[in-house]
Amino acid sequence: MTSMLVRRDVHGRARGPGTVALSNRMRAIVAVTTAGPTSDDEVAGYVAALGLPGLADVHVHFLPPAMQRQVWTYFDQAGTRYGMAWPITYRQSEDERIAILRGLGLRAIPALTYAHKPGMAVWLNSWTQNFAARVPEALHCATFYPEPGVVDYVEQAIGAGARLFKVHVEVGGFAPDDRALEPVWRVLAQRRLPVVIHCGSAPLAGTHTGPAGIRRLLSRQPDLTLIIAHLGMPEYDDFADLAEHYEGVHLDTTMAGTDFSNRFAPFPPGYRARLARLAEKVVLGSDFPSIPYPYAHQLQALARLDLGDDWMRAVLWSNGARLLGLTA
Ligand SMILES: [Zn+2]
Repeated sequence: MTSMLVRRDVHGRARGPGTVALSNRMRAIVAVTTAGPTSDDEVAGYVAALGLPGLADVHVHFLPPAMQRQVWTYFDQAGTRYGMAWPITYRQSEDERIAILRGLGLRAIPALTYAHKPGMAVWLNSWTQNFAARVPEALHCATFYPEPGVVDYVEQAIGAGARLFKVHVEVGGFAPDDRALEPVWRVLAQRRLPVVIHCGSAPLAGTHTGPAGIRRLLSRQPDLTLIIAHLGMPEYDDFADLAEHYEGVHLDTTMAGTDFSNRFAPFPPGYRARLARLAEKVVLGSDFPSIPYPYAHQLQALARLDLGDDWMRAVLWSNGARLLGLTA
């Protein structure tokens, strides 16, 4: 990384190699950041210019068709639910959405689902297992809910090849440290399987959203590989604390830093510098397809943080590829 940089001291005089190492913050200031893509057509070229084999996006949704329609109907009513419009950018057929992601350069296509009541997760997991079998680039995903038999169907999903889990604390309405989930977290920690967890209080707060439940969970299961969705917005700093403290805790970028999210959940002062320091813990997430702007805008939102191309390479590819087990 340092070989890419012009080393200068505070007075702008160039330093030779072997002198005082630059702090991460200074590196971020000096490092070059290529401008992000302004449209989806520019994404592949941007990714190639960074020298990446593709994108490793950990936060993509594919759902059973009836459920996908329900989710879109829900977002169509965002005006009354969230107090703002939420127009869905990618309301195409499943085949068309897969083709779009291929064109954007995703090297694996997750199909994140989540349950809002008991008895749903088994059905969702059989659907995602089928998705993984019929879509060549699919990343086999699964979900779980605090209910009888949960550890059995989670082990079954792992046995069938699930490599990424997702749960939604606000929609699910359960505490992350619900007793019924304790054996599940133990299994996932032992297998080092990553779990995308929506647990921040934006865009909607729930009884169990916020850092407290995750803090309690990690105190019991410190070896978990958690991917905190949306950088934990709006509790950015609390979740960054956890990412700094626990080796397995990561933050996904889903919707963060976009014009849309900056209106209701802007970054707190000093947070950009924390993101720079957490370069190995920040992972690309997009929330495709139910986003109110083009995919390219997420990449642009990250690039305009101006944390350097090395930071972008880690976030767009290396960190997600490591978590998902992708090779270049
Ligand atoms: Zn999502």
